[in-house]
Amino acid sequence: MPELPEVESARQVLERALHRRITEVDDTDTYVCRPHVPGEIAAALRGGELVAAHRVGKSLWCETTTADGDAGPRLGIHLGMSGRIYVLDPEGPHVSGGRYGGGEPFLVAGDNDKPVWTRFRITFADGGELTLFDKRRLGRVRLEPDIHLLGPDAQQIGREELRERVGASLAPIKARLMDQTVVAGIGNLLADEVLWQAMIRPSRPARDVTAPELDRLWEALGRAIDSAIAMGGVHTGEVVAARKRDGTCPRCGAPMERATVGGRTTYWCSREQA
Ligand SMILES: [Zn+2]
Repeated sequence: MPELPEVESARQVLERALHRRITEVDDTDTYVCRPHVPGEIAAALRGGELVAAHRVGKSLWCETTTADGDAGPRLGIHLGMSGRIYVLDPEGPHVSGGRYGGGEPFLVAGDNDKPVWTRFRITFADGGELTLFDKRRLGRVRLEPDIHLLGPDAQQIGREELRERVGASLAPIKARLMDQTVVAGIGNLLADEVLWQAMIRPSRPARDVTAPELDRLWEALGRAIDSAIAMGGVHTGEVVAARKRDGTCPRCGAPMERATVGGRTTYWCSREQA
């Protein structure tokens, strides 16, 4: 499932679609494009351009301009569980794709993904296109997405802000980290990774985690996000391979513990995160 690093990779791909005049939009997938009716997103975008690609947490959206050059509606794109964004450049078959999910960079439409999995497409005047491939159809494309409830982005949050927002609660520290209104962008794997890096037991009440520990967590978060973006996703985290039955801690060799915390299957080192 995409977490912040995967969505950031997708945002960087989206940047290649900016400032190109939109001639056609296929928004006929009424599930992915709900609540819009077919043609509604197309009418809002046709003739205009995408002019900026933003991300907060796992939410992604583009600023647009209309055919007249006025500010247009925001175009929200949510990757769901398995969505991928591909942008076909004007020159022809070269396609830039994210390395999301550890797959090979995408080369030509149809190589890795069936056309039937194309859920949304924008065609540009230069002959290129932007497509959302989504095998599981859990992605979402909509105008004016709801982004005001999101907490600060996990890549941007400051040390003090993380202390204040995450620390002030009786809830388990892991549940706080995964609450998108507290801090946006952290999913199950990334939460286990940074708590392991910072040597904090995931089930500890957030209020009992000390300020130095929260600072350690903040540093681990920045490092883990940068690494995951560079390596191609959160599955490349150091502790991910140990998240299994009979797994052992990659740092100290102690057995990994497993339980449900914050509603999600959670692994931690029995010795260092006691
Ligand atoms: Zn350990």
